[in-house]
Amino acid sequence: MNKLSLTLIFLASSNIAYASSQTIYQIEQTSSHTLNVSVDRSKHPAETELVFRGASMGIASQVKNVMCDGLAVEEIKSGVWQMPATCQKLQWQIPLRKGDKELAANQQSIKSGSFMLLSVVSSLPQLQDAETEIVNITLPNVKTIFPKTDATNSIVLPSRANAPFFILLNPVVVDSITSENISLNYFLDRPEFATELPAIHSHMNALKWLNTIIPGRKNENFSIAWLGIAKEKMALAGAAGEDVLLTNYPNNGGLKFGKTMLLYVTLHEAFHQFAMQYPDQPSWAAESLATYYGIRAIEIASPNDPDNIALLQRFKQDGNRFHDGLVTINRKIKNGDRSEYLAFYTKGLAFWIAVDEALQQTQGKRLDYYLLKILQTKYDADGEPINMQNILHLSSEKWLLIQQNFLN
Ligand SMILES: [Zn+2]
Repeated sequence: MNKLSLTLIFLASSNIAYASSQTIYQIEQTSSHTLNVSVDRSKHPAETELVFRGASMGIASQVKNVMCDGLAVEEIKSGVWQMPATCQKLQWQIPLRKGDKELAANQQSIKSGSFMLLSVVSSLPQLQDAETEIVNITLPNVKTIFPKTDATNSIVLPSRANAPFFILLNPVVVDSITSENISLNYFLDRPEFATELPAIHSHMNALKWLNTIIPGRKNENFSIAWLGIAKEKMALAGAAGEDVLLTNYPNNGGLKFGKTMLLYVTLHEAFHQFAMQYPDQPSWAAESLATYYGIRAIEIASPNDPDNIALLQRFKQDGNRFHDGLVTINRKIKNGDRSEYLAFYTKGLAFWIAVDEALQQTQGKRLDYYLLKILQTKYDADGEPINMQNILHLSSEKWLLIQQNFLN
């Protein structure tokens, strides 16, 4: 977020002309459900490759009809197109998916009414010789764009190493609140569904609570894009992008666990965001902590809501079906077997509940007291924590039991 805003301010204030190393992806609309991307290469033609990056992340490609000067460009292997040096005008199409049929977690470009979401990772393969990459949006009926464009309707793409980049076209700004260092914005695809969203103030209370146990950066900005989908298709997953979190809400009536489930997804992701400045952790540790604190935070957002308990029970129940421990599963995943990934959320939640109970019994302290130290724990190559028992001041017996039950 910060990097991008700074780049935009820099471009706007210094008013520099785009240098020749800049690649401009021009976005136009060809029909109601199709966008066209074109890149003018006439000033610096060179042989290069156009590469779709979503494949390694399991994201479906929405890149169709890659053409150069009217001729089809050869796809030399899946998701890689060979660009001839003679290419002057490169273009391709993005068929937009129907918003209410596509899970946010799939990170696809979608359309829903006048709202559109442009997902860079599914729709904008990138030129290997591009340095600065700019998306220029000239669509007739687009009035608002997030993130903000500059005076020429352009957005500079963040580094490819950053989180996925999403551009919202015509979102409805439902609500925006700021409290000290935290700001929270709700964007919605369809104005008529505003009542389906959680109360933004409750959401903010939970963020503030999370921030008391895990200090974030100076300014933490949470922008949520709420995307409607049939409740039968809902999943407990969103997609955290560079500037915005994509998450679904049910657009055809009530949902099991109600708004609790919506809050849970956003608070789980908020924990990841607050934890971003701490060292990387193995997946099992990062996901289990985000789940544990996501569940704790919904109780702050809506205290004593029976849906909170119901959701917790559901997680616990699902966790029971995994016989392997979390570190064992972490190792399997590293070797390519992702079949038990869900255990990180469910069994992982049960692990931290067990640790919290042990701490309360033996020391009268909660897990929160040790959280910052836990976030700095070192792990071996398999994901086994190296000195967790010492950090938590637990007896060998207690720790061994927890380790046997949950980790190994
Ligand atoms: Zn997560």
